[in-house]
Amino acid sequence: MDLLSNTEAHTLVARGPAQLALHARAAAVTRERFGPHVFVRGVVEVSNHCRENCHYCGMRRENRGLDRFRAKHDQLAELLIHHRPASMTDVNIQTGEDPVAVREVVVPLVRTLRRETPLGVSVCLGTLNEPLYDELQAAGAALYIIKFELATAARYEQVEAPGTLAERVRHIRLLAARGWRVSSGFIAGLPGQTAEELLANLRLAQELPLDGCSVSPFIPGEATPLACAAGGDLDTTLNCMATLRLMRPDLVIPAVSALNLTGADDGYRRGLRAGANLCTINLTPAELRDDYLLYKRERFIMNEERVLNAIAAEGLEVSPTGMTEHWPTKPALAEAMAG
Ligand code: SF4
Repeated sequence: MDLLSNTEAHTLVARGPAQLALHARAAAVTRERFGPHVFVRGVVEVSNHCRENCHYCGMRRENRGLDRFRAKHDQLAELLIHHRPASMTDVNIQTGEDPVAVREVVVPLVRTLRRETPLGVSVCLGTLNEPLYDELQAAGAALYIIKFELATAARYEQVEAPGTLAERVRHIRLLAARGWRVSSGFIAGLPGQTAEELLANLRLAQELPLDGCSVSPFIPGEATPLACAAGGDLDTTLNCMATLRLMRPDLVIPAVSALNLTGADDGYRRGLRAGANLCTINLTPAELRDDYLLYKRERFIMNEERVLNAIAAEGLEVSPTGMTEHWPTKPALAEAMAG
């Protein structure tokens, strides 16, 4: 069945019983593939320096009112080796697009964590270059998170998303070909976004060599050109997640914390009911977290208790295995061709 036929365009705006049925189908497909298990990872936000200027993000380079920080390797290593929540199997190391932080903090931290912990390591560091991707991979990172954000080139350029859409897609393919597991993602509900543009996002997610994909509702970010725009709609975001799950039953789809910033208290839990199978505990030290300004200073911080409560309330269980254990090791393209 072509899930992206014209008929399916209507599912993106489904409400009431039709929406419940869509989400129930997505949840059933998730359970069939992953059982009752939800992956739990921690995230540490290492640097809020960013050379990019995305209109939808408070860390854009033109936001001069932001205190910029780079966390220290030793502080994060201590936290993740000795004080991490027992439920997490993976860690995601995230920065603005800041190659200095990648070289000085992230690469050594990946190395330390792979040596000292059993954690699977994901990184979300923006568009870098091949030597730096290779260095991160050699240090032991296995999953690269690189969102394409929106699949329409003109709109991508209009909101100054990183580089060009073509370049971003090229890097996604390049990372996958070099043996990385790759997760991407897009934003639902950017001002003026049409149903056709949302479908284009889903189509691109279907085509790309991805192992995971997120759908984030647009949240108007403080000190951004879109600060006064209306936020994305939770229902449409959840419908995109459910459609993505039905298109690609194998994907790891996170419940993003922004689901709870759309005005509904139960957005996060509804994400788990619409096909999500990954929760994230925010572990960034509190004194740095306020300046990691993805949206607003009042972020909805998912601590371990909130994550575990949401999983239990949905009748689900924390996965005993991590994402990187779930996926078999992937040979780099060159090795695969030689083999
Ligand atoms: S979305 Fe990422 S690349 Fe864009 S400004 Fe924010 S931190 Fe930088």
